Amino acid sequence: MTRLRNSPDVLVAGGGPAGVAAALTLASRGADVVLVHCAQGAGPRVLESLSPLARPLLRGLGVLDRLPAACHAPCHGNRSSWGGPALTASDFLHGPYGAGWHVDRAPFDAALRRAARAAGVRLHAGSVRSVARHGGRWRADVSGAVMTTPYLVDATGARARLARRLGARLVRTDHLVAVAAGVPLTVPGHDGPYGTRGGRERTSLVESTPFGWWYTASLPGGRQVVMAVTDADLVAGAGLRTPEGWWAALAATRHVRARATGHRTTAPDRLRVLPAGTSRTLPPAGPGWVAAGDAAAATDPIAARGLTHALATGIAAATALTEEADGDPRAQSRYAALVDAVHDEFLRARAVCYRAEERWDTPFWTRRRAPASVTRRAAGATPGSSR
Ligand SMILES: Cc1cc2nc3c(=O)[nH]c(=O)nc-3n(C[C@H](O)[C@H](O)[C@H](O)COP(=O)(O)OP(=O)(O)OC[C@H]3O[C@@H](n4cnc5c(N)ncnc54)[C@H](O)[C@@H]3O)c2cc1C
Repeated sequence: MTRLRNSPDVLVAGGGPAGVAAALTLASRGADVVLVHCAQGAGPRVLESLSPLARPLLRGLGVLDRLPAACHAPCHGNRSSWGGPALTASDFLHGPYGAGWHVDRAPFDAALRRAARAAGVRLHAGSVRSVARHGGRWRADVSGAVMTTPYLVDATGARARLARRLGARLVRTDHLVAVAAGVPLTVPGHDGPYGTRGGRERTSLVESTPFGWWYTASLPGGRQVVMAVTDADLVAGAGLRTPEGWWAALAATRHVRARATGHRTTAPDRLRVLPAGTSRTLPPAGPGWVAAGDAAAATDPIAARGLTHALATGIAAATALTEEADGDPRAQSRYAALVDAVHDEFLRARAVCYRAEERWDTPFWTRRRAPASVTRRAAGATPGSSR
């Protein structure tokens, strides 16, 4: 079949996990797919926890065995100090899918894109700058080049750049940020309460504090990421603007300090501030287009479910487009209802999780205790319960 270089069956904007999952699913169904990804990568990224639930999704996409060991390390569970000073443990070994991973996002995403190219997806470095409807097709400006296509996937991340251009609304629930730093691993090797094994941390660790919470986990190669998570307007008051203030706040923790600082006595050289808010795009789909991953709904990292959601909605979005192309007029509204229902459930679980911490009446916590529009209780929600 002759493939017109600038007229694919589907144009996918965004080369993160959602875009790759959508592109791979569409390519496996015979579509000619162009995946536009920013040549500079995804911008600032940190280590993230990949839930064991992602394993069957990666296997179904045919990429589980194509991800090099250098971009991930096993994660055997979570440790959390939340609602009280003691550390509680939840281990993946008791679940059906085994261990999760700690992933180094930049090489992880690059490996996913290589797998997509190997499966026949056409990669195009650049960015989709604008889209408009012309005669039943989308006309997209891709870094100065024009592409036309009947179907569009917005996988551009939490800012949902394309969906908003098409008239969708971005609804933010909060303005959470993560103030992150890389810290060399210094804890000596032992199997201890912090989940260390052979000198490497094999669990994520979360600890709540008056201004929010801390998270730490380690990567292959002996690197460790530590981040303080709070609302954007509380960063300065919590002293997190400077490496020295951040370091002092870390020193006031109990468990994260023990794992993260070891014998190190100096603050990190630099901090990175990453937006980490919860938002949803309304609607997340329309005739000829779908949003997937964070572009459809972005979630507070306390649940560590964003990557799994990105893969799952990438696959579901591709299915909706295929069904629409086969003449099903309700495919997009079913997809939108699915995204909405999953996000509502997340909001309920998040409310339960935050309300489990009752020790402080500081702004971060009182905001989260205020009655929300979604109040139905979701059982068993704890930090990282969906990791
Ligand atoms: C601090 C922090 C910690 C997190 N921790 C976890 C965790 O532990 N576990 C977890 O599962 N999730 C975590 N998440 C969430 C996770 O990062 C996201 O849910 C996930 O990256 C979403 O994937 P995506 O493919 O939808 O979007 P992204 O990964 O954001 O990818 C979008 C891509 O689109 C590109 N793009 C943007 N605009 C355009 C354009 N116009 N044209 C072309 N390309 C474009 C971007 O450069 C980017 O590469 C965390 C998030 C944050 C902020």
